[in-house]
Amino acid sequence: MTLPYAEPLVRRELQPRVIPEPLRVGEPGGDPCGLCSWLSGLDDTARDAEDKPLWYDADWALCRATGVTIPGVVWLTSRAHHDSFADLPDALARSYGPMIARVERAILALGDIARVHVYRWGDGSAHFHVWFYPRPLGMLEAKREMLPLWAEVLPEAPKEVVADAEDKIAAALAADS
Ligand SMILES: [Zn+2]
Repeated sequence: MTLPYAEPLVRRELQPRVIPEPLRVGEPGGDPCGLCSWLSGLDDTARDAEDKPLWYDADWALCRATGVTIPGVVWLTSRAHHDSFADLPDALARSYGPMIARVERAILALGDIARVHVYRWGDGSAHFHVWFYPRPLGMLEAKREMLPLWAEVLPEAPKEVVADAEDKIAAALAADS
């Protein structure tokens, strides 16, 4: 039993399917893509550093999460608007592998981490992004898909600890080009 909840848990009944599904943000016909507007103008020197990704190049941006419970949780997004792997231009798809390897190395360099989980859900925004969740060393309850569930229920980590981890990840990424 590795769920972050005590027994007894009662399995819920599946609800009837909702078809068509509600439009996601950034989907054609849906609300405008907030990521596209946030990612535009990154080279504006007047812009506050806190309002910029942790790190970015012409293709990718590594971003802070909010309400972080496990320091080192970050997410990577494409600079341009594409929905999923199936939609990435070939050059971007080719750079994805080396890019997530760099992010994984940067997170592992924080130390005290057993594994870095990479999740691509895409159910919220239609702008391509993947999540990186470092599983703390020895936190065996949080193996596999349990990690994001635990991340939801753990107390928020001190902001300075989160910021320190983010700064280290950004520096490691910049040094590993
Ligand atoms: Zn977008």
